[in-house]
Amino acid sequence: MIFPTTVAGSLPKPAWLAEPNKLWPKWQLAGEALAQAKLDATLLAVKLQEDAGVDIVCDGEMSRQHFVHGFLEFVDGIDFANKIEMGIRADRYKAMVPVVRGALTLKGRVHQAEARHARAHTKRKLKITLPGAMTIADTVADAHYGDRAKMAFAFADLLNKEARALQADGVDVIQFDEPAFNVFMDEVPTWGVEALERAVDGLTCTTAVHICYGYGIKANIDWKNALGEEWRQYENIFPALAKSRIKQVSVEVIHSHVPLKLLGLLEGKDVLAGVIDVATEKVETPEEVAGVIKAVMQFVPKEKIVASTNCGMAPMRRDIAEAKLVALGAGAKLARERFG
Ligand code: ZN
Repeated sequence: MIFPTTVAGSLPKPAWLAEPNKLWPKWQLAGEALAQAKLDATLLAVKLQEDAGVDIVCDGEMSRQHFVHGFLEFVDGIDFANKIEMGIRADRYKAMVPVVRGALTLKGRVHQAEARHARAHTKRKLKITLPGAMTIADTVADAHYGDRAKMAFAFADLLNKEARALQADGVDVIQFDEPAFNVFMDEVPTWGVEALERAVDGLTCTTAVHICYGYGIKANIDWKNALGEEWRQYENIFPALAKSRIKQVSVEVIHSHVPLKLLGLLEGKDVLAGVIDVATEKVETPEEVAGVIKAVMQFVPKEKIVASTNCGMAPMRRDIAEAKLVALGAGAKLARERFG
């Protein structure tokens, strides 16, 4: 089947699980009740995707407070008690970040519970996302490794351990989220892709990397407005990714200022094309979605196109996110009828 659908990763959390419309929501429950609620929300996320016609479903990232910190909570060697303020993504945001103070090790499994729960309740292909090593290394302060690439490689080894375990849990696609690739373009070919390949070492399941211009929050919208008419960040990093072992690359397309011909630099890769904008509450029509797929077909062979969202939908209103999932499924179906 051409134009299968998927999501970048996160979906809005139900209000009974966490504060709505926030990137760093507080949990509404604690202990055993929270653990159960996360699994219940995972099931809901899977069902909503299935009903909307999403072919490669995600856990919706219901079990993590934030896409990077959801992983870091399971890592030893990090001091969360004495966070420091640091400019991240080349100073786009100021954030209070934890400090790496010793050798990094995993405390145990990170996403086992939700991955197994989702696996037990869907026959569709299942994708789980992990933060990429470069993005993690840009979201913590280093007081131990003394070199950002070295620290990123240490994180990549931990990611690899969890990724291999997820594969054993029955996960079909493991995606690494690397928004930092669009910021530190010079470092992507020198060590970013190497860190990514370390994270996928030994995996036989489908591997993906998501590179985007961020959630639809103000700091990102301001940053995008400063990038000019044409966003050419991908031009610097796609050649290195095309040569890598990663099978799929997830990118922003709809309402993006990325020249579409840059997608041609990803020869041989599946392109997870963003056909749903996460920075606007306006719900796409199936016609618009099919139109974006048609535009992507100019530069990517149709059997290599997967229809996706531009980025995660965690901070969106639930009803809007659900309507956008339906538009995604309907738009891909329309495109199959027209261009299949
Ligand atoms: Zn994203």
